[in-house]
Amino acid sequence: MTIKINETIAAIPIYPQAATYAFGGPLVKMSSNESPHNPHPAVAEAISAAARNANRYPDPTGAQLREALAGEYDMAAEQIVLGNGSCEILLGAAQILLEPGTELVYAWPSFSMYPHLAVMTGAKAVEVPLTIDYRHDLDAMLAAITPKTRMVLICNPNNPTGTFIDHDAIKRFVEQVPPEVCVVIDEAYIEFVTGAERDGLLPLVIERDNVVITRTFAKIYGLAGLRVGYAFAPLSFKRAIDLVRQPFSVNLVAQAAATEAVNHPDDVSERVLSTLAERQWIETELREAGFATAETQTNFSWIELGEMDEDAVMESLAKAGIIVRAGKALGAEGFIRASYCDHADNERFVVAMRSLAA
Ligand SMILES: *Cc1c(COP(=O)(O)O)cnc(C)c1O
Repeated sequence: MTIKINETIAAIPIYPQAATYAFGGPLVKMSSNESPHNPHPAVAEAISAAARNANRYPDPTGAQLREALAGEYDMAAEQIVLGNGSCEILLGAAQILLEPGTELVYAWPSFSMYPHLAVMTGAKAVEVPLTIDYRHDLDAMLAAITPKTRMVLICNPNNPTGTFIDHDAIKRFVEQVPPEVCVVIDEAYIEFVTGAERDGLLPLVIERDNVVITRTFAKIYGLAGLRVGYAFAPLSFKRAIDLVRQPFSVNLVAQAAATEAVNHPDDVSERVLSTLAERQWIETELREAGFATAETQTNFSWIELGEMDEDAVMESLAKAGIIVRAGKALGAEGFIRASYCDHADNERFVVAMRSLAA
């Protein structure tokens, strides 16, 4: 006999872990869209200082961090929600919005966590295929909304394809969504977008009561290991989510690090510029080698393998010590997703891809 797990939980799909392989040398880790840059020295300093006070519980309201974010984004601190990674905010959103008999609409392929949100709450997942150029099909998503829909997720730019939908299109979409349906816009990669204002959609949160925008310290800020995310949200959303979360979900060290990180916007701009340079270089190299890629606005590429066998590509990259994410694990076979590292590592990747194509 084993313990009985409740049926809803037993049905949750397993989150695809990035594979690691026995390789006798330094690995190139391109599987989780992390930053190759260590935290800013002042942030590392804040981490050490906070660690010395780890005998105390953190501020349950995260007041300092919320104030810092309020200043940076010109948003009332009351409308800022913190989470143990933005994943915690997404899970909380599902918990407060969804239940059996309701529906969640999202594009597919998109962030691998979205399907869990439906399964864990017993809601129905309505997956709307991306367009042929790997973008959200907003018209089809709108058409998929029914009286049972409680939540619509838009991942912009989209993980795993990197594609971006322009803000005007999203604004027109939101205008047509019924006011009782919550639109959650996951902007984990928004800092990497060129040609659009980083905060272009924030006014929607202020003007409407049904729009939530989530962001994270895991990508551009290089703090993936500390787990801090945040959201701009209506007061009703913040009140409800605070009820379901454990009281001290963002730890003391994480709060201190994130607060300090917000104070170094120049460092963020530098990281963005270096990522953009690597993006342009990798995308050009891949295209010259004959690979088609989606139009990325992020820190990763979505690469079509054409006639090549995905497993064989994964294996041959792994043998070269390069770990990428298999398309199969992300909802689309015949692709890989590779996040950018520093230039030397990116070169190893490009060399390996070139030899595959040869
Ligand atoms: C990485 C990522 C997140 C961030 O998750 P954290 O919990 O903040 O680490 C959220 N959404 C998407 C689409 C992501 O790719």
